[in-house]
Amino acid sequence: MSYIVAIDGPAGVGKGTLTKLVAEELGLVSIDTGMLYRTHALATLRNNISLDDRDKIINILKDLNIQLENRDNKQFVLLNGEDVTKEIRKPEVSAIVSQTSSIPEVREEITKLERKIANAWMEEGKNIIMEGRDITTVVFPDAKVKIYLDATPIERAKRRFRQNKKNGIDQPFEEVLQAIMERDKNDMNKEVGALKRAPDAVYFDSSNQTIEQNKKAILEIIRRKTEE
Ligand code: C5P
Repeated sequence: MSYIVAIDGPAGVGKGTLTKLVAEELGLVSIDTGMLYRTHALATLRNNISLDDRDKIINILKDLNIQLENRDNKQFVLLNGEDVTKEIRKPEVSAIVSQTSSIPEVREEITKLERKIANAWMEEGKNIIMEGRDITTVVFPDAKVKIYLDATPIERAKRRFRQNKKNGIDQPFEEVLQAIMERDKNDMNKEVGALKRAPDAVYFDSSNQTIEQNKKAILEIIRRKTEE
């Protein structure tokens, strides 16, 4: 039987990088659910919808065909057939996504999409690693492996700053830190799907450790839980 590894954690904690490395090592299909919320936020921006216009933010979902593709162990997202993988990482999108994703009707639709994507892979006999904010609590609360990944805001801002540089995004460190703290506040206080620790998720603090050490620790948690 296929299994799911569910990982939640705050912005910039390294979920994306670690998930990718672990997926590579174990041959899992990785699903970054933030990409789905970001794509919806991008569509909101492109259509000049005001953040106060809840109905429009919800209704636009009907016009969106959001698809995730895994190629050469990389994830791509298509919005109505257009590859928007790079564009969804822009600071303008990061700045509004925690607001657009706080609307319960939006979460309901994206949650359905997440389950549909995972189920399609599992029907093909694949194991899944899915990361986000509410995977261990809402989307797959019965996942075989549940992990809450954490790190201090400063450490996460440093990682995001380096990642931005690599992706050609030029944003001062102070701004990156500020944006991360703002997003933490929004993500943790959502009415539905707030970021929180599931009582039965394994808590793992990735601060002050190298990526390799973190990868090893996550692999060990998965090994232990899948052998239980
Ligand atoms: O993971 P990433 O930082 O790319 O996610 C972008 C935003 O999407 C988060 O700050 C959060 O507001 C939202 N999100 C969410 N639930 C998820 C994944 C992401 O609300 N499962």
